[in-house]
Amino acid sequence: MAAVTDLTPADELSAFAQRVATCTKCALAQGRTQVVFGSGDPNADLMFVGEAPGFHEDQQGVPFVGAAGKLLEQLLAGIGLTRADVYIANVLKCRPPGNRDPMPEEIEACEVHLWRQIELINPRVVATLGNFATKLLSGKPTGITRVHGQEQETTLGGRRALLYPLYHPAAALYTPRMLEVLQSDFGRLPELLGRVVEAPAPKPVLVGAEPAVQLGLF
Ligand code: URA
Repeated sequence: MAAVTDLTPADELSAFAQRVATCTKCALAQGRTQVVFGSGDPNADLMFVGEAPGFHEDQQGVPFVGAAGKLLEQLLAGIGLTRADVYIANVLKCRPPGNRDPMPEEIEACEVHLWRQIELINPRVVATLGNFATKLLSGKPTGITRVHGQEQETTLGGRRALLYPLYHPAAALYTPRMLEVLQSDFGRLPELLGRVVEAPAPKPVLVGAEPAVQLGLF
């Protein structure tokens, strides 16, 4: 039998998916058909994070298989990728009844699953789709209309990555202007994937200064 240390991150991700499949951390567990953990390449450089499973996702156990998923696949094809090349997940792993918005307590209960996914997948770029994923992963309340298309270097799941907010494909489906913006923002993904995100430079130590100043206390 392989020692625990021999597990690859991909093995760990699949073991983690099995554990999350029986999650009862919030009330959504009672109404779901199944947990929609995520799908795609467990070693992907590019990860998408949407909002929550809808009807079809709940039925099939795979994220973005409905109309918004078709658009996401078209957008991926436009930059020469398929969904097998990326990893796709959601903020919530279970379908909210009637596809209502996620509630704060559901996000709070579920977010540990997403953080662990990001940690194990270790993507270079995390593209958030819509407001819920963007606000959660940026840790800021600024809405998607103001931040879409603006990448930012950050630490996600303990790893350096580029956070790249995008409009949610479901919103773009019915708003032609939003679709144009989403297509244009999507077009920058290849460039962002080529960018190396370094660890932040350590704070300079002021030579000769008092220890408290060196520690940045003043
Ligand atoms: N919308 C989402 O945010 N996620 C899905 O999985 C499907 C639609």
